[in-house]
Amino acid sequence: MSDLKDFPLHADFETVLVSESAIRRRVKNLGAEIAAAYGGEEITVVAIINGAILFTADLLREIPNPIRLDCVRVSSYRNETRTRGKPRLLHSLALDLGGRHVLLIDDILDTAKTLTFVVDLIKKHRPASIRTCVLLDKRGRREVEFEADFVGFQIPDKFVVGYGLDFAERYRNLPCIGVLKPSLQNPPEWA
Ligand code: 5GP
Ligand code: MG
Repeated sequence: MSDLKDFPLHADFETVLVSESAIRRRVKNLGAEIAAAYGGEEITVVAIINGAILFTADLLREIPNPIRLDCVRVSSYRNETRTRGKPRLLHSLALDLGGRHVLLIDDILDTAKTLTFVVDLIKKHRPASIRTCVLLDKRGRREVEFEADFVGFQIPDKFVVGYGLDFAERYRNLPCIGVLKPSLQNPPEWA
């Protein structure tokens, strides 16, 4: 388990919401849940980058099924803690999804605008099935009705960073998930 000495960035946290060991245990269980849901079927995973990179990398190693991996890049958040405007597709799919079992993975489900947008995009390719998996779910913040099929943790309505989640592209490399100190949530030099 990393501590302040290994990761001085920990000092920027006000609170840790999900520890490194809790993430590891839950990711293992999620992998088993997903493998059970798909039987031995091949899964075409679509990860939303950059946020889902660390989660996807760890989760896929817990799923023994044959897997194809693709990524999409979607932007809706700028260097701030509030959503702005509609999601925009910055990098699209490379794999053919027609007739495939697609598992869409994201780091966090918040208003659900992003996942709704990407699910609609994937449906246009006529997959055999589409399921969604998120590490974190802020259920209280929905603007669009949406439930993910696989959820790691329910968390309160706080802006979190770590384990793939960023603030102005920082903190993705932290092995746990937490809330930044208020004084660090809007540093002008990062805008
Ligand atoms: P939604 O479209 O559901 O509102 O938001 C999904 C996207 O917003 C996530 O993929 C993530 O990039 C970003 N997001 C939502 N909540 C948070 C948060 O608490 N922390 C960070 N770093 N990103 C968030
Ligand atoms: Mg994201």
